Order: sequence, then structure tokens, then C-alpha cells
Amino acid sequence: MVSVFFRHESIRKGQKELMQDIITAVSQGNHLIAHAPTGLGKTDSSISASLGYALENDKTIFFCTPKISQHRIAVDVMKGLVEKYDLKAVTLDVIGKKHLCLDEIREKETDGFYELCKKKKMKRSCYYYDRIRGYGLKQKASAKIRAEALRDWYGSVRTHEELLSYCEKEELCPYEASLMIGEKADVIICDYYHVLNPFIGDSFLSKTNKNLEDAIVIIDEAHNAAERLRNAMSSSLNISMVRKARNEAILAGTRELEKRLQKIEKELILMAENMKEEEQERVMHKSELPLFSSDFFEELYEVGMFVLETTNLNKSYCLKILSFYENWVNDSEAFIRIFKKTKRGYSAVVKCLDASIITADRLNATHSTILMSGTLKPGEMYRDLLGLDKERTMIREYSSPFPKHNKLNVLVKGVTTKYENRTMEEFVKIASMIREITSNIPGNSAVFFPSYSMMREVLPFLKTEKKVIVQKENQSPEKTREVIDIFKSLSEEGGILVGVSGGSFAEGIDFPGNDLLGVIIVGVPLKEPDIETRALIKYYDMKFGKGWDYGYVLPAMSKAVQAAGRVIRNEQDKGVVVFLDTRFSWQKYAKCLPSGEDFVITENPGLEVKKFWLR
Ligand code: SF4
Repeated sequence: MVSVFFRHESIRKGQKELMQDIITAVSQGNHLIAHAPTGLGKTDSSISASLGYALENDKTIFFCTPKISQHRIAVDVMKGLVEKYDLKAVTLDVIGKKHLCLDEIREKETDGFYELCKKKKMKRSCYYYDRIRGYGLKQKASAKIRAEALRDWYGSVRTHEELLSYCEKEELCPYEASLMIGEKADVIICDYYHVLNPFIGDSFLSKTNKNLEDAIVIIDEAHNAAERLRNAMSSSLNISMVRKARNEAILAGTRELEKRLQKIEKELILMAENMKEEEQERVMHKSELPLFSSDFFEELYEVGMFVLETTNLNKSYCLKILSFYENWVNDSEAFIRIFKKTKRGYSAVVKCLDASIITADRLNATHSTILMSGTLKPGEMYRDLLGLDKERTMIREYSSPFPKHNKLNVLVKGVTTKYENRTMEEFVKIASMIREITSNIPGNSAVFFPSYSMMREVLPFLKTEKKVIVQKENQSPEKTREVIDIFKSLSEEGGILVGVSGGSFAEGIDFPGNDLLGVIIVGVPLKEPDIETRALIKYYDMKFGKGWDYGYVLPAMSKAVQAAGRVIRNEQDKGVVVFLDTRFSWQKYAKCLPSGEDFVITENPGLEVKKFWLR
């Protein structure tokens, strides 16, 4: 029997089932994919259900989340458990090394930051490192005393902000301090990269004396993991970057590198000139860019580091070209090369199609991996995209713990954003339905379009008395926060927030209580059928026989369901979700909608919404 710890007095509906499944998976050394809606207490459940087994069997829990803001909840869970049960478990809350660095090199871009830190340590020139690890014998002795004081102060659980401020006061490298605490930690709250990225992950695990075989890895918001990792393994190159890199080569006096970069620049210019006016993109072959012997990589590295170390520039284009070429020369079928027109001119792009080339071996090496999110349907797709072993993976879906009568789900028929139906009449109809629905919602509503271009087609026809706030393309995180605050302040009179599915408003932002009473998802947010999408479909067809589903339909539905999840964040919330496109009621799309919920199918959504709020 495994011990189970739980900090709350009562357990929510569905939570017991989720915890039981986690205990089973962890005890048997298996994986679990948990499609668990908002309100189930996923963080509490996953840590509480796996902690007993971890403590009794000398395993370490890695709670991985993509957002720093989510760390706090996991820390609170551990604080609650330690206090309630007087546990001796140690928890480390760690963020990226660059965010923890106290040295001035933290201002440098990520491409060069890690190397600069390594060099500083080798040259014995980082003051903060010396204070916590010690370079010479005498310094090591003093550092040991400081490290002991750090452990005494730390106790069993602290937030990364607390650790950072202690280290600032004591002038200790916070990252090294984290590694020290990590060696004794039973629970590590971190980013995906600390486990899944081969470069960062291997270094982090070895420096904390951990290994994957003894790790219970919990991946929160797992619906994003595969795409996020694919993007991290993709890169692009344009003429301006090559010119800037050439200037760096001139500055460093490396004639050979300058000549090579000039050759790349000429090829890119020629390719751009040969593109037809109407052509947006084409597939490229590896040999279309000049390829050089391995000393090219060394030269790029040397010049890049020279620039970062000897000038006040924060980034080096030679290092950017180095990471681009490392991907470019990869012969794996999991990469596609594209030459495309972008806002900044033409770019050569290398895109990774398959995150499992790095995640499969790592996740299957763990004792147990738990993937959780409110959008992991169908679980088989997420299992395949990350490469989890079929035989070891349990797939489960849990129902929402919130009262059904507090939510109205509407599927609208007779309207669509389907390509062949994109006419002015259809845009007018969509705008008029949005007006009808939002005017019957007694407060704030959000409308999510499948793309910015669709948003631009429909918005001019939206006539409403309510204040409309529109998401801009490439909006900064600061601006997004500012806009959200303005929107929330409109909850009395009611405003309309307009964004795109998959954008920053549609994912990861909480709108509890009266902040949001209704969401409209306009159209299925399918990707443009461009070269990358077609390549994904072909690749997943070849690998799983499910190209259309995995490369096109299901990721779109995942975005739609995420956006719909912005409304109803707790038990008291009341709200409506309107899926405004006839395709949402087709079987291939409808199978991804949350099961266990009721849907009203109608051509008059405004009336249904009105009836709901009058109830
Ligand atoms: S050792 Fe720590 S403080 Fe020094 S450069 Fe590296 S991360 Fe920054």
C-alpha cells in the first residue's frame, strides 16, 4: 500500500479517480495521459498521488510546467503537504539559468549566454560562482560554510523568488544554489526543458545527481509540449542576418568566414530573385545553401563568442547562423526545408516535424510520466506525438467537477468560415450572430477567430454598443497584460475581447467570475494548408497512418477547446460557449469536444443565449 498525502479536507468530484489512476501508473512504472478539465485540481492531485511512492522508493518528482506563473501553485501544494504531515521532503523550485544569473552576462541573448557562463567559470572570473563553489582551496572552504548556511536557511521548500533574493543578499550564484538544493530534492518544479531538452536536461540532471530512470515526470499543460519542442528545433536564416554576421567576421578579422558568409548571402539573393511574384514558398534541398567543412561551425562559434565577450552587443548573428546550420545539415526525415516570403523579405527555414525524435527516448526512460491538460483528446495523438510506449501508457478522460446547469454549450449550424464559403454575405451573417449573442450576455464576452485575416474580414460588419478590444498581431506580453486589465474593468457594462484561437488571450489567461461570461469560437482554427502543414500531414501519415488527423484536424480542435475553456474557471462561475461553425457538429470535429457535456444545436444562437441568462 502506497502512502497518499492530501492537503485539503475534502476531495472534488473526479479528483479521486484521477489520483487513483496516478497511483496505479506510478506504482506500476507506467505512463498516464490525463484529459482532466479545469477545476479538477490537477496540480494537487498529481503531486499528492505520486509523492508517497516517490518518498518510499527513492524517486524524484519533476513537475514540469511551461509557465513560471504556474510554479507557485505547485510550491503551495508542497508547502501545504509538508506542513500538514510534517514531511521531511525537500522541494526545489527552479527557473531558467539566464533568469537566475546575477552577472552582467544575463543581458546577452540565450544563444551565447550558456557558453559565456561556462567560460567565466573556467577563467575563474565569476564572483558569484566563486562565493558558492570556490575556485581555490581557501575559497572552497569559505564557500562550503556559505553552502551550509544556505541549506539551513532553505529548510524544505521555498519559491524561486525567495531563493533568488537570499542569493542576491549573500552574493551567491542562484543557479548553483538551485543545483545544490536539487541534489537533495524529492520534488523539482521546473520547465519542460529541464527534463526534455537533451542539452539543458542532461546537464541539469547530472549536476543534481538525478537520472531519468528514477524520475516521475509530471508534464502540466501537456497539449503544448510537442509543438513547443518542434518550434525550439526549427530555425530560419535571412539575408539581413547573414550581412550582420559578415560584419562580425570583418570585426574579428576572419577573412575565410567572411568569404563563406558572402557566398551564402549571394545564394540567398539569387534564390529570392528567382522566386515568381505570386510564389509565397517552395521546398528547398539541403544542397541549395553552400555547405562547408566542420571548421565553418568552429569559426562561427569563435567569432560569435568574440563579439559577445569584447563588445557591448547582446547578441551575435554568427551564433544564430551556427544554430541554423546545425539544424539545416540534419538528414533526418523529421525536418523539412522551405524557402519562403516573410514580412522581412525571403528566408530559408528548417522546420522540425516530429518532437518525439528527442522526447521518446527520454520519456520512456523515466520511471513514470504523467501528461495532464484540459485538452488531451484524443490521448492516442499526444502519446504518439511525444513517442510514449503504447504498452506502458494508460489513457483516461475525467469529467468536469462543475455543475452542468451553470454552462450553456451551443453548436451553431448554417454558418461557416470554410474556404469556399468565404463571401461577404457569410461575413455579415457571422458579425450579426456575434452581435446577437454578445448583446444577450450580461457582461464580458470574448470572440476568437481562426486567423487575423478572418478577423479583419468580419470585424468591419460588427455593429455593437459594447466596447470592442482587439488583439494585435505580435502584441508584446506587457501590452497583452494591459489590454486584459482594461477588458476586466469592463465587466459591469460588458465589453467584447477579440482575439485568435491559439493566441495569448485564448490560452493560459484566467478570467474567473464576472471577468468573462461568454466565449464565441468563430470557425475551426485550421492552419493554412501551406508546405509545412502538408509536410506534417504526409509525415504523420507515413509514421502513424493518421496524417490528416494529427497534422491538421486535431491540433485545430485542441486550440478551439482551449479557447472555450476561458469561461467557467470555478464552481460558482456561469457562462456560455458558442462554437460558431457548422463543421463543429461534424463527427470528425465533434469527437474532440468534451464528453459528458450537453450541446444545443441551433441556427439561432442569440435566442439560446438569451433563454439561458433569463433562466
Ligand atoms: S555562474 Fe551563475 S552568476 Fe556566474 S555567470 Fe554563470 S549563471 Fe551567472
